[in-house]
Amino acid sequence: MTTTVPAYAAPAAKAPLGPATIERRDVRELDVRIAITFVGICHSDVHQAREGWGTALFPMVPGHEITGIVTETGPGVTAYRPGDRVGVGCMVESCRVCENCRAGLEQYCAEGPVWTYNAVGRDGQRTYGGYAQEIVVDEHFVVRIPDALPLETAAPLLCAGITTYSPLRHWNAGPGRRVAVVGLGGLGHVAVRIGHALGAEVTVLSRSLRKKDDGLRLGAVDYRATADPETFEELAGRFDLVLNTVSAPLDFAAHLGLLRTDGALVSVGLPEQPVLLDLRALNGGRRSLSTSSIGGIAETQEMLDFCAAHGVAAEVELIGVDRINEAYDRVVAGDVRFRFVIDTATL
Ligand code: NAP
Ligand code: ZN
Ligand code: ZN
Repeated sequence: MTTTVPAYAAPAAKAPLGPATIERRDVRELDVRIAITFVGICHSDVHQAREGWGTALFPMVPGHEITGIVTETGPGVTAYRPGDRVGVGCMVESCRVCENCRAGLEQYCAEGPVWTYNAVGRDGQRTYGGYAQEIVVDEHFVVRIPDALPLETAAPLLCAGITTYSPLRHWNAGPGRRVAVVGLGGLGHVAVRIGHALGAEVTVLSRSLRKKDDGLRLGAVDYRATADPETFEELAGRFDLVLNTVSAPLDFAAHLGLLRTDGALVSVGLPEQPVLLDLRALNGGRRSLSTSSIGGIAETQEMLDFCAAHGVAAEVELIGVDRINEAYDRVVAGDVRFRFVIDTATL
């Protein structure tokens, strides 16, 4: 049995999103049914709905920055009850037994995690994301939203928050460490806040100085324009960690030059084109280049608790579903401060 649920879907690649209905499964033994209240628009939604990352599954209901209220639980669910404030991020299943799953790294599951949308579940059914009235998810992939965090500004933490918190922690952002955040968008603005809350000295590297006041208010101590070649001369060899959140191709060699010995450039931004890199950019100073994919479920809960304790949440522009297509164009144009969040009451 299934329940028919109102949603907003892309019917085909590059086609505008519009009203649709989807089927959600009945709750199984360990499932939680969630009435979705808010869902963020991540740049990854745009990459996938427009097939920028390659062939995708349509119709597609994007959305992996989901907050809402539990309405029903399966008989075996122990962690949640109806009325609980919860969130769902980018994954809804994994094998749960491989080395990575057992280490709390479900995002690197050996069999591949099942993404919240644009994927096929382990039962063979298509997954549909959070631009919808409700979702049914195994309790392991549900996290609790602390009472101190409003559901609308917490929603972006489910992707933008964990995607930046995880590498900041892994590469030891903290007191005495200098971190550069490249790109002040959805991920970038949360990265500045989290990096600052962790005690690191944060610099923003943005294309221009247009958002400088915002960057400093969010916790950065310095703000530079990457369009200005002097930035790369003045900041050469300065940072322990450069966290790239830019959605477009970057001059990686130039940004590697900003690292101290043993520094790391970590790109969470996933441009649609391959990167060509002269390895000599890594060679001076034993620098490393890595990517990082979201974060595990336990770490996502840790991030939410950290954000609640430090007053960290996203700055959002709340919209109704009728403005999703306009919002997509504005995300691509870099015209949002700093995350669109859909009020699903408008569905
Ligand atoms: P976003 O809100 O659009 O922010 C990206 C920022 O990159 C923009 O605000 C802009 O910053 C800069 N930018 C955008 N277009 C640019 C261009 N053509 N040239 C130079 N800079 C440009 O996007 P987001 O939601 O934060 O996502 C950022 C990237 O991370 C996307 O590629 C997304 O798919 C990826 N992502 C990865 C993961 C993961 O697990 N690894 C998770 C979530 C998202 P300035 O205006 O300040 O320059
Ligand atoms: Zn995302
Ligand atoms: Zn696994």
